[in-house]
Amino acid sequence: MPAFNDNYLWLLARGQEAAVVDPGDAAPVLQALERHGLRLSAILVTHHHGDHVGGVDELKSRTGAVVHGPAAESIDGIDHRLAGGDMLDVLGTRLRVIDVPGHTAGHIAYFAPDETPPLLFCGDTLFACGCGRLFEGTPSQMLASLDALAALPAATRVYCAHEYTLANIRFALSIEPSNVALLERAARDRATRERGEPTLPSTIGLELATNPFLRCDAPSVRAAVAGSATAESVDRTSIFASLRQMKNTFR
Ligand code: ZN
Ligand code: FE
Repeated sequence: MPAFNDNYLWLLARGQEAAVVDPGDAAPVLQALERHGLRLSAILVTHHHGDHVGGVDELKSRTGAVVHGPAAESIDGIDHRLAGGDMLDVLGTRLRVIDVPGHTAGHIAYFAPDETPPLLFCGDTLFACGCGRLFEGTPSQMLASLDALAALPAATRVYCAHEYTLANIRFALSIEPSNVALLERAARDRATRERGEPTLPSTIGLELATNPFLRCDAPSVRAAVAGSATAESVDRTSIFASLRQMKNTFR
């Protein structure tokens, strides 16, 4: 469900039961529950930012849903505090918690390994063709978090929390103007947005092929960031840090 300017709240349903990821706003969730005749049993929170937790209190008090969220962040209303490696059952689906610090210090992601294809809810860590800003973490923390997500099966569907794809693709093209997979993606995702449809979910495989923040080891990305003469001697954390800095100031 779209919310605010560019957020997505992901609603999952099985039978008459539903779960929602990162409900920054309660209203669209309550409308969807009503429209589809669903009962909300679980709320999954990835990190403490208002556009991800703003609807938690109202949804919890109106539906009695259990609230799952990161143990390492202070968020009102959390019933079940989670950290990397924890497993939980939501709507009969097994979810594994992955620690992904960087955007915020205690950010977590939820991975459903048994679904076909597997599913990933990654909040503001990995975006389609981009990654979250480093508000509370270091470049090396964020890079380790992205490495953990990049290691998931290529078919994994990636449910990010924002529709930032076209702006991210513009930046990615400035880094890798001849990446054929990226050029194809640009054409496809622009057409998708022209039809008013979400570009999400993405897949880990597509991100590996097109997302510069998952491609800090690719010679083309390294050369674009460090200059081809010096790229070989620059470590990948520095490449990532510079890339993130370039994105922050990209217009
Ligand atoms: Zn955020
Ligand atoms: Fe956000």
